[in-house]
Amino acid sequence: MRLIDGWLDAAEPVPSPNFNERPAEQEPSLLVVHCISLPPGHFGSGDIRRFFQNQLDSSAHPFYEEIKGLKVSAHFLIERNGHLVQFVATDKRAWHAGKSNYKGCDDCNNFSIGVELEGCDDQAYSDEQYHSLTALCAYLIDYYPKLTRSRLCGHSDIAPGRKSDPGPAFDWGRLQQLLRQAT
Ligand SMILES: [Zn+2]
Repeated sequence: MRLIDGWLDAAEPVPSPNFNERPAEQEPSLLVVHCISLPPGHFGSGDIRRFFQNQLDSSAHPFYEEIKGLKVSAHFLIERNGHLVQFVATDKRAWHAGKSNYKGCDDCNNFSIGVELEGCDDQAYSDEQYHSLTALCAYLIDYYPKLTRSRLCGHSDIAPGRKSDPGPAFDWGRLQQLLRQAT
């Protein structure tokens, strides 16, 4: 696995227009885990990719009317089979966290990498997703000096009350155990 100009060679590149520059001297120092499914509760539609590319057909599902026009992204998506997709270069600022705060610092998009797991808060994530996420985290922790094993969090941790993902189904202990084995 290798990063070249912010793009990981192990990931399928699906560029999103939803990003901008990080503030000067803001190296990634936090990794935020999310989950998403489109339509909600359904996997494998390909609509997460379309959503992050502003190409979702809003007539395809009633829920899509609610999210119509939203411009969001994450750096990475890990699909149910573990397949890794990248939407935004890691040195750019993806739009995944929204209003957020981590240990006194606002606007976590400035200094974080966002990783979406295809899933739901209350449904177990797949073994393949844990393994892909572990490999991704291990590589990024090794690559970015300010990103450490203790600076991994969920969207719910930086936007409490507003966001619940990746939810109680996500096993943080398992991720940390896999990371200890991998690094
Ligand atoms: Zn989220």
